Amino acid sequence: MFLPSTTGGECRICALALGSVPKQGYDQPWAENDRYFAMASVGALVPGWSLVFPKSHALNLLENLSAPSFWEFVGSAHAAIEQRYGRSVIFEHGCQYKGSLTGCGTSHAHLHIVPLGAGIVEASRNYDPSLIWAPCKAKDIPQLVRGDEYLFVADSYDGANTIGQVTLLSEGRSQYFRRVIADMLGRPGEYDYKTHPHADIAARAAALLRADMNQLQQASAA
Ligand SMILES: [Zn+2]
Ligand SMILES: [Zn+2]
Repeated sequence: MFLPSTTGGECRICALALGSVPKQGYDQPWAENDRYFAMASVGALVPGWSLVFPKSHALNLLENLSAPSFWEFVGSAHAAIEQRYGRSVIFEHGCQYKGSLTGCGTSHAHLHIVPLGAGIVEASRNYDPSLIWAPCKAKDIPQLVRGDEYLFVADSYDGANTIGQVTLLSEGRSQYFRRVIADMLGRPGEYDYKTHPHADIAARAAALLRADMNQLQQASAA
């Protein structure tokens, strides 16, 4: 059952969590506990592309990045995605204000987990040479950003100790990693989730991952 914060106002994710808008196939969480849920991403350029949301409304993940409960949940979601879809990267585009361009249409904090089967850090660094990136552990992001909008991306996963690259933004960036991934896949025209929602891909992944999680839970309960 969802018990999200009520401070999200008009937030679509808070509304979804409260059940006040009808859910489509991909909008049904495929994993959840009392604090977090995982959903297949609309606009999935590859099957299995998922988002982890904290139920409590926030603009970015800064307050979750040092919470063991967050990484425990992300770890199980990441493992389930890798088991079914293969090697997965993670990224966050950290917003600092509602309606920021840097968000992907939602101002509710989330982590992307994307089974690309390849790294994305190098392509992210090369995509816009004007951005300056620095290596960073996920848990250290809050000390670095201090109110800036930011992008964080990592090729491999190690919970709070995940080593990736972070860049601070001086202006909002729309769908940055989606553009990078669409380029990598040779489908640059599909970067925009609004024109290429791929809802069928997301709905199918949600069903498969939900079944995998149920099976795992049954196995561990037996
Ligand atoms: Zn929200
Ligand atoms: Zn996003």
